[in-house]
Amino acid sequence: MPPRKPTPSLSGTHRYKWTIVGAGFTGLSCAYRLAELHPNDRILLLDARQVGQGASGRNAGFAIAASYFPGKYELDKTPLYQRVLRINNTGLNLLRTLITKHQIDCDWQNSGFHHSAADCEALAQHKFYRDYLEALQIDHTILDRDELTNRLGTSHYQAGIYVHQGALMQPAALVYGLANNLPKNVTLAENTPVLSIKAQKHPTLILPKGEVETGTFILAVNYEAAKLGFLRNKLAGSTLSGSFTRKLTNEELATLGTLKQWGVLSLHGGGATVRLTNDARICLRNSAEYHGGKLLERKTIAKRQIIHKKSFYKRFPELAHVPFEYSWSGVEGITFNGTNFFGKQAENIFLAGGYNGSGVSRGTSFGRAIAEYASNIPSDLVDDCSVCAPASFVPPRPFLDIGAALTVRSRFKGVGLDR
Ligand SMILES: Cc1cc2nc3c(=O)[nH]c(=O)nc-3n(C[C@H](O)[C@H](O)[C@H](O)COP(=O)(O)OP(=O)(O)OC[C@H]3O[C@@H](n4cnc5c(N)ncnc54)[C@H](O)[C@@H]3O)c2cc1C
Repeated sequence: MPPRKPTPSLSGTHRYKWTIVGAGFTGLSCAYRLAELHPNDRILLLDARQVGQGASGRNAGFAIAASYFPGKYELDKTPLYQRVLRINNTGLNLLRTLITKHQIDCDWQNSGFHHSAADCEALAQHKFYRDYLEALQIDHTILDRDELTNRLGTSHYQAGIYVHQGALMQPAALVYGLANNLPKNVTLAENTPVLSIKAQKHPTLILPKGEVETGTFILAVNYEAAKLGFLRNKLAGSTLSGSFTRKLTNEELATLGTLKQWGVLSLHGGGATVRLTNDARICLRNSAEYHGGKLLERKTIAKRQIIHKKSFYKRFPELAHVPFEYSWSGVEGITFNGTNFFGKQAENIFLAGGYNGSGVSRGTSFGRAIAEYASNIPSDLVDDCSVCAPASFVPPRPFLDIGAALTVRSRFKGVGLDR
């Protein structure tokens, strides 16, 4: 994406009835809903960085409807599966509506996704995922190797499932578009980190050059909540990295099957996420590591690119001559038992976040729901988001670092050819 002109940062002393911290999918969606519910109130949205520099602008661009729960379909978990499906679908529809209303140009494609299996562990998951899709009556098509080859131009996968729901997009373009079209009563201040919070009846947010006293404060800062004193030892950041090629030529594209663009999610949690993008690039992400919740340094990204390339050559040997044009990293919020966070943290302080790598549609729903919850507006969405399981707790550092590193590493167990 070309650079975006950031909104001015905030300094001085201010009072706002509502303040949201974090302008990713959660915070942006929360801002849209708060503005709708309180058209006469002034709402402040702060971000420490520029919009698009958090996970919401750095992800793989899958707006998911049908989440993938590893392991056998468990009948007694049906209410959970149905609840997550409703939450995801609500987020997906909200994004669709905003994109149409504001004509956001983000390569949005209601194309559904392919879920793939190349090695034995993912093949076992193939059956479980099929059972889940059948039980929840989610439209899907089972694909064998030939059909996958025909669609994607790689014979790497032994089996797959095409799920008809779900959309692909350019995530940075989407968050830019959402930030550029915020309602009039929302003020966005970028490059404005909240350094600390004085929790009192009217919480006060301390900024590098000022402070904001606010009636209600909503935290949408993903894995960085602990820096502000929330969810300590319950949420960590896992750093992922990916690369994309230069644009493919028409001859190169002709080797890639029948679809103009596609997305493949692995049926193994450590497997590669691969896309053929709307602008004719192959984009691939297959590394994850614990790096203290930070982005990777340039040198490390160059090393990770070697891992991305290996995965690319395995899938597309006839494109081995195509250079990679860019590599990047991003940090996703992970919990130790896969739960999410939603609710009140202290008087007039609310929080939503921590989606374990699946926060585009879910974060959009949670953002809307936390706005309703903080406004005391009941809704089915609030009910659905409110029943997150309690988070597992990991003792403080250094145990937290060890626990997070082991959790991230465990996702690659048995990944084999799917990486
Ligand atoms: C490489 C990668 C690939 C992914 N792929 C997918 C995918 O394909 N599909 C999917 O659904 N999910 C995916 N995810 C996960 C998804 O991106 C996240 O779950 C989602 O973006 C989280 O949104 P959020 O708004 O809660 O948090 P974020 O987007 O992280 O936004 C939080 C914001 O808070 C700001 N902030 C933090 N601390 C402060 C502070 N003290 N003061 C002010 N501002 C602060 C940050 O700057 C940031 O902009 C991926 C993640 C990564 C990293």
